[in-house]
Amino acid sequence: MTKTNVLDEKYEKLQNEIQSLHEKWRGEISEISLNGLEQVKEGSPIIPQLDLSININQYQQFIEELLQLIGENNSDVTNAAEKLKELLTAEMLQTWFKEAITVNHFYFANLAEEHELPEWLPIFLAEQAVRPFLQAATVELEPTLKEMKHTHCCSSCGEPARFAILNKKGKKEQSCPRCHYAWEEKKISCAHCGSEDELVILKVEGDESAEIHACHKCKGYTKVIDTRKMFKKESPTLLDVKSIHLDFIAQEKGFGISEDENQKAH
Ligand SMILES: [Zn+2]
Ligand SMILES: [Zn+2]
Repeated sequence: MTKTNVLDEKYEKLQNEIQSLHEKWRGEISEISLNGLEQVKEGSPIIPQLDLSININQYQQFIEELLQLIGENNSDVTNAAEKLKELLTAEMLQTWFKEAITVNHFYFANLAEEHELPEWLPIFLAEQAVRPFLQAATVELEPTLKEMKHTHCCSSCGEPARFAILNKKGKKEQSCPRCHYAWEEKKISCAHCGSEDELVILKVEGDESAEIHACHKCKGYTKVIDTRKMFKKESPTLLDVKSIHLDFIAQEKGFGISEDENQKAH
C-alpha cells in the first residue's frame, strides 16, 4: 500500500482556511449555557441530550463566513447563498443548530431537495458551524465526561470513534474531530466493538506516522496518527482531513464504520 496523492493543493489550502475560520470562531464564542445536565439519564453521548443555549446570530455569522469562503471559486455555492440568506430565519437557524448536533442527514437532504440546493451544502454548513459550540460545550463538560465509561463513540457529541493519535506518552488517544474531546484507550483494542483479538494493524508504505486499526469482527476501523515527531501540533480536525488517504485504503480493504454503529450514533 502506498500513500496516494488524493489531496491536491487546492483542497489542502481550502481545508487550512476552513481550519483558520474554526480557530477564529472558537475565540469568538461569547455565550453558551448547558441546560438539562442534571436530567441526563441515558449515559453518553451527553450533548445531544442537552438544551444548549447560544447566541444564534453567531451561528448565523459562522454559516455566512463559511459560505463566503467556499463560494470564492464555486458558482454553485454563490447561487445557493442568495437562497440560503432568505431561508435562514431565526427559527430555521434554531432547527439547523439542533439537527446539526445529531448530524441528521435525512433532515438536511430533504431540505436541500425541497429548496433545490446542492445536496452536500446545507449539512456541510450547518455541521461545520456547530463545531465551535460543541467544542466550547465539551470544555465545560470535561469533569462529567471523565467520570463516564467510554463506548464506541465520542461521549460528548456522539461522533463514531474513528480517529486517534499516539500522544506524547505513546498512548493511543481517541480524538474527536468534531468536539475535540480526547480519551486514552488500550492500544490494541477496537474502538467500535472492544474486540482485542480480531484487530489488524495496517501500515502505510511511505508514511511511518500512520496506521489503520481495523477490526475483522465488526468491520470498523480507526485511523491512528503518531504525532510525537510532528513539528507542529495540529488539531484532530485537520489531521483527520489530511489523512483521508487512510480512509480510502481502509474502505478499499472492505472496512468501514458498521451500519449498526452509524445508526446508534446518528
Ligand atoms: Zn465529539
Ligand atoms: Zn470491532
